[in-house]
Amino acid sequence: MGKRLNDVDLANTTLFHPPQIVDIQNAHCANGCNLMSENVKINGLKAIAVKILWKGKEGMIYLDPEFGSYENISEIEVPKGEVVDFVCPHCGISLRHEKDLCRSCSAPTFAMELPGEGQIIGCLRKGCFEHTLKIESFESMQLRMEENFIRMIM
Ligand SMILES: [Zn+2]
Ligand SMILES: [Zn+2]
Repeated sequence: MGKRLNDVDLANTTLFHPPQIVDIQNAHCANGCNLMSENVKINGLKAIAVKILWKGKEGMIYLDPEFGSYENISEIEVPKGEVVDFVCPHCGISLRHEKDLCRSCSAPTFAMELPGEGQIIGCLRKGCFEHTLKIESFESMQLRMEENFIRMIM
């Protein structure tokens, strides 16, 4: 009795400042292979390197790791609107994410693991810029940006 103020936990009142730019510095396939390119950089940042498959063609695609930017470099030319597949260039596992469809265009999505942070879920339709960064670590969840999703364009 008279102790109700103890229910307020002052340790949880820390202010968090959401970053304006989210750089992906560490992306893995589901088997744990490192997808960061050692030699291809976009705007000075290591690109995310995955294999792209489309109608029997394959090549590498280098994804811009910077939030809000989409200067991807692809070895194969894919017309806008086509749905592609992404595969890990190291172990060959498909990055297709069976659980979620794109929230904009209902195409299949791909997923990459961000160790200790969460996942990137992105649309596999060329030209659709619906990509979300799903943050799962406790500290990042405090950002509460769009209910634990940070929208990103790649
Ligand atoms: Zn792999
Ligand atoms: Zn889409």
